Amino acid sequence: MSRVFDKFYFKPKQTILSIDSLINASRSHDENIAPFINNMFCPECLQAQLTFCHETSKHKAYLKRIPSSSHAPNCSYNYKYASNSSIKKYITSLSSNQVEDKLNSILHLLTRKNITSNTSTNYSKTNSNNHKNPLLVYDINNSVSGALPQKKVNSYLDPNIIGNDIYLFYGENIKIKQNIIDKNNKKFYLLEFKAKNKNQEWTSRFKIFRNTIRDIIDENAEYYIATIGTLNLNYSKLQISPLLPNALKIKLMPK
Ligand SMILES: [Zn+2]
Repeated sequence: MSRVFDKFYFKPKQTILSIDSLINASRSHDENIAPFINNMFCPECLQAQLTFCHETSKHKAYLKRIPSSSHAPNCSYNYKYASNSSIKKYITSLSSNQVEDKLNSILHLLTRKNITSNTSTNYSKTNSNNHKNPLLVYDINNSVSGALPQKKVNSYLDPNIIGNDIYLFYGENIKIKQNIIDKNNKKFYLLEFKAKNKNQEWTSRFKIFRNTIRDIIDENAEYYIATIGTLNLNYSKLQISPLLPNALKIKLMPK
C-alpha cells in the first residue's frame, strides 16, 4: 500500500488540517465534507491532490493521493522508507550543526499550520542538491536513499515498533520533566515527555536518557520535539534512544 496521509493542505484557507476535521465532518453528514472535496493536497509539497477514504471495518479513515495527480519532484512521499543502515550512515555523517539544522527544518515542515510565502519556501520544488528535503535520507553521492519514517508522539506510541527500526519521532505541545539521577557523585539526566490525552490530561509518553547532558528545560512550558532514533522498553517504560546525543531537538513553542 502506498503511503497515506493523516493531514492535508486545505487550499481555500491556505492551512494544514488534521484528518480528524474531515472525520468529524463526515460523521455528522456526508455533505459536510463537500467543501473539502477537490481542495485537499499533500501536506508536504502542497501539489498532489488527495481524496478521502471513509472508515470501514477493515481500516481507519485515511487520505490518499489521486493517481492522476503527482507530488513535487522533491516530496518525500515519492519515496519508499529508507533502510535503517542508510539512515544511520547518513545521520552519523552529518556535523552537529547539520543535524540541528535538519531537525529544525523537519519541525518547521511538520508542524506548520498556515502556509504563507514564508513557510512554503522551505520546501523546494526542484531536485537540486542545494535544496535538500529534510525528510529525505541521502547517500554519499547526494542521491536519495529514501524517506524518513515518521511517528508523531502526541498519541500513544505503538509498542509494535519497539526494536531496531529507526524513526523520526516528533511532536508538538509536549511538556518535559527533567529527572536527575545521582550515581557515584555524578549527575545523569532522564527526560520524561508528556502529551495530553483525549481527556486533556497530561500523560507520560516516553523517556529519553541524556546521560550527563543537562538540557535547559522549563517544566511548565510546551515544546516542539524531534528526534531520530529507536524505541525500546527500559524498566517496562517506553524509551527513545536517539542515534546520537545531538539527534534530539527540543524547541520552546510560542505562547
Ligand atoms: Zn507531496
